[in-house]
Amino acid sequence: MAAEDAGRPALLDMTPGEIAEAIAPLGQPAYRAAQVYSWLCRGVGFTGMTNLPLALRETLETSFRTGLAVIAERRDSRRDDTRKYLFALDDGERVEGVRMTYRHGHTLCISTQVGCRMGCAFCASTLGGRVRDLTAGEMLAQIIAANGDLGGQRIGNVVMMGSGEPLDNYAASIAFLRRVRLPEGLGIGLRSVSLSTCGLVPEMRALATEGLPVTLSVSLHAPDDETRRRIMPIARRYAIGEVVDAARHYVERTGRRVIFEYALIRDVNDRPEQASRLAGLLRGMQCHVNLITLSGVPETGLLAARRERAAEFERELVRRGVSVTRRRQMGSDIEGACGQLRRRSGGKE
Ligand code: SAH
Repeated sequence: MAAEDAGRPALLDMTPGEIAEAIAPLGQPAYRAAQVYSWLCRGVGFTGMTNLPLALRETLETSFRTGLAVIAERRDSRRDDTRKYLFALDDGERVEGVRMTYRHGHTLCISTQVGCRMGCAFCASTLGGRVRDLTAGEMLAQIIAANGDLGGQRIGNVVMMGSGEPLDNYAASIAFLRRVRLPEGLGIGLRSVSLSTCGLVPEMRALATEGLPVTLSVSLHAPDDETRRRIMPIARRYAIGEVVDAARHYVERTGRRVIFEYALIRDVNDRPEQASRLAGLLRGMQCHVNLITLSGVPETGLLAARRERAAEFERELVRRGVSVTRRRQMGSDIEGACGQLRRRSGGKE
């Protein structure tokens, strides 16, 4: 889009109510806002909003931008049904999304920030730091663009697990959650949405009080503070006990079980005694552990755990009564790990 457009407000960053207020001075009836919102959520720009009077479409075009995202690049896995996207935002920044297709439908992994400042040692997204936060509209725009690429089918599940730390962009992430479920928009129920965090304790506790029944995933990646501090700088701010307590609080407040993400890293966190310790830490909690195969990022020097070690780790958790799955590694041939595709493409256009 043209540079002069960048200063205009994006309609996708507004609720239907805010759009109604914004277009009221144009002398339009209130139902126009719902029409505009519904078109936007179907990925239609101003010229395609054919049930609006032409004059209104023209006024909208000069006063606002849509806030829709464009697919700048897509890549298909040869091994599975994974498709990776690079979405171009209005200021030329790009973020990644990954669509995974399962028997029960399509899941989209969306980004919440351009880059990330959490500094996890194994992650590609954080290598260049945080560039900026995404708006709620830019999070919705990723789903809308992916829907446009599905030829009539729709994204049914969303995971906030792409680049960025959603709880480090709290207000926009909450606004996104409140909007993604609106029936006049995308209509995706929050039981079909997961938010993944590296463990920002105050924000985890705040999220529990928002009345948003989203699934909380916590990236734990270690069973003790010492190991966790080696790979996750956030562990220097919050002790692992506080993170697990905040997760227990989330379960109590919401009745939703929490998912713990644990990427198995060779000779760092993959020993059987670390599995026992993890089981002890989570004892009695309504939770599930997702064991992830680390995607190697050359810059990090960290490697995925060996297959036998991973299997042994899983067996130990099962033996200790922990609900656990080893996540299938999808999209490993298309730089499916956070931030890898954006880095290779050089980031901003
Ligand atoms: N900041 C949030 C969400 C984005 S990261 C969080 O930390 O949860 C999404 C998930 O991908 C996290 O569990 C993260 O630890 C994991 N991840 C990052 N880099 C990875 C890699 N190279 N291999 C496997 N998982 C990775």
